[in-house]
Amino acid sequence: MLELNGLEAGHVALLGVPWDAHSSFLRGPALAPRQIRAALHSGAMNLCAENGHDLGADARWHDLGDLAIPAGDEAALAAITGTASAVLRRGGRLLALGGDHAVSFPLLRAYGEAHPGLTVLHLDAHPDLYDELDGDQLSHACPFARALEEGRIARLVQVGIRTLNPHQRAQARRFGVEVIEMRDWRPGMDLRLAAPLYLSLDLDALDPAFAPGVSHHEPGGFTTREVLGIIQSLPVPLVGADLVEFNPVRDPTGITAALAAKLVKEILAQMLDAIATEGS
Ligand code: MN
Ligand code: MN
Repeated sequence: MLELNGLEAGHVALLGVPWDAHSSFLRGPALAPRQIRAALHSGAMNLCAENGHDLGADARWHDLGDLAIPAGDEAALAAITGTASAVLRRGGRLLALGGDHAVSFPLLRAYGEAHPGLTVLHLDAHPDLYDELDGDQLSHACPFARALEEGRIARLVQVGIRTLNPHQRAQARRFGVEVIEMRDWRPGMDLRLAAPLYLSLDLDALDPAFAPGVSHHEPGGFTTREVLGIIQSLPVPLVGADLVEFNPVRDPTGITAALAAKLVKEILAQMLDAIATEGS
């Protein structure tokens, strides 16, 4: 378990979850957290979010470092859920850096427990609703099927989807998932998001022109500005978020690392400004 001293109620914990054992196509996302941190602190960018919030001068967020992922699936799941639960028990909020999308299932186990009635806004090219993929129920293509089966999510709103096949369309119907396909999405669309709200952001939601450093290139996605607009216009404070599927192996120029670091700043600012607005 990581050291949580100094993490107070209302604070935000940044946590690396370097787990990609259940990636179906390419490994590499386990390398992401350290590359995102390197970009964030490289000196190429300052620590201000676009709204002027200077994260370098804000002591209410803490980088907990990377979780040590134990061998064995059950142990890995328990370590991720246990750490998230410990942060939530202290009244903290978590911004988790994957890892692939398989990390969201153990994170949502903790969040579903702590926040009944949880809404998840899921930005992704893929619905990640497979019952199993290649015989793997913990695949990064399955986390939302697992979380919904366990009742961890009250409302799942998926945006940016552009890979629905008949099985996943049937799964979406079975679980009552609200799928807004990329071809139907428009900027400013009212998603009627309500608290408690969690954001799960798969970098392949963006067009590979903007985010080439992902395992699954799926053209026809969001621009960077569109994703920033979604984050900056969220109507309620995020109780937590994960940023997943950055694959540094496919990012030789570092452009996707810079994108991920910028998204970290914008998500942190959204969470911390929301706390200030709440007056807590
Ligand atoms: Mn995904
Ligand atoms: Mn995806």
